[in-house]
Amino acid sequence: MMKTPLVEMDGDEMTRILWQKIKDKLILPYVDLKTEYYDLGLKHRDETDDRVTVESAEATLKYGVAVKCATITPNAQRVEEYGLKQMWKSPNGTIRAILDGTVFRAPVVVKGISPCVRNWEKPITIARHAYGDVYKNTEYRVPGPGKAELCFTGEDGAETRQTIMQFEGPGILQGQHNTDRSIASFARSCFNYALSVKQDLWFSTKDTISKIYDHRFKDIFAELYETEFKPAFEAAGIEYFYTLIDDAVARVIRSRGGFIWALKNYDGDVMSDMIATAFGSLAMMTSVLVSPGGQFEYEAAHGTVTRHYYRYLKGEETSTNPVATIFAWTGALRKRGELDGLSDLQAFADRLEKATLATIEGGRMTKDLVSLYEGEATGLNSDAFLDAIAQTLESL
Ligand code: NAP
Ligand code: MG
Repeated sequence: MMKTPLVEMDGDEMTRILWQKIKDKLILPYVDLKTEYYDLGLKHRDETDDRVTVESAEATLKYGVAVKCATITPNAQRVEEYGLKQMWKSPNGTIRAILDGTVFRAPVVVKGISPCVRNWEKPITIARHAYGDVYKNTEYRVPGPGKAELCFTGEDGAETRQTIMQFEGPGILQGQHNTDRSIASFARSCFNYALSVKQDLWFSTKDTISKIYDHRFKDIFAELYETEFKPAFEAAGIEYFYTLIDDAVARVIRSRGGFIWALKNYDGDVMSDMIATAFGSLAMMTSVLVSPGGQFEYEAAHGTVTRHYYRYLKGEETSTNPVATIFAWTGALRKRGELDGLSDLQAFADRLEKATLATIEGGRMTKDLVSLYEGEATGLNSDAFLDAIAQTLESL
């Protein structure tokens, strides 16, 4: 039984097909599901002038927990394919802007699919700051000799100027920024998330070289930890620690996993692809957006798996991996159970995850995993795999 509805954000293409099948086969038979449904499929976003995306994010602010299907971010080709009124923005970007959140990505770890790094026993979660730095930069191609300066004008008109470079010939120039406010909300999301999963939090930047910019990140984290989070971390038996990014990289490789690694925007972008690949497959990465206000939005890290969808439309069977989407549902149901004090709902989420892993560990999986699996494996299409999970679930 549920008390408060989940915010359900439906999506596009192959993942939309899987979405319905997951609900029908693995959730509706067991849970008295309550959701507030928002159709973020591209057609409906277009019909509502993308209001539906904003409304779904606002509902998440209200209820606290959402589960989202992968969605198309339109490009020129999609505008034509769907006859769109305009090239709507990325729904994830819109939702993130409203929730002001941080995205945490973690691999689903299965026995029989070993990470490339042999000593990694538990998942490593990447927390990527999703604002500013090189993603919101100002760039300039310097045509020839001249002076580049960094200039800031305060509201009172006071100006500070520093020479960046006295160019003797052509070159390049870039301006970056971040705000104390955004860094603090990133830090809060990281501390809250570490507490919610009871894992250590690591944070790393290049503060030895970037003595003001990166150092500010380090200081804001340290200050918030000391003034707000230290007692809770101590009570939970977890640790916050800061280290230079070079040192962090070495430690991550030698670690057993099982912690959260917080990173600046660019570092998180790059490192999350490395961690995902080293753990096995993008189809096994889950993702959760955590807002500083304590709202959670769960989803798979992969996209709508367009190539499979076009095969599906031709009537062909597909073997699309539903694991990350199943874990988005279980993450959301467990969190809802936690917030509403529903232990049965939490136990169901645990059981569904266990059934999914046990099915793979028993040698039944989608075809993308077969080549990664060390042992006898049968590659199933999506329907047969979901049925196999349902069968395992009945037996638990
Ligand atoms: P994608 O949907 O992640 O798929 C890329 C390729 O990865 C697939 O063709 C497939 O390889 C493999 N793959 C990914 N997920 C899989 C799964 N669950 N099971 C089996 N194989 C899987 O990325 P994309 O093709 O670049 O993007 C497609 C659409 O998704 C785009 O419109 C993009 O805007 C959107 N997108 C949405 C999100 C989101 O909503 N969070 C994120 C990323 C992309 P094979 O074809 O070789 O089997
Ligand atoms: Mg990337």
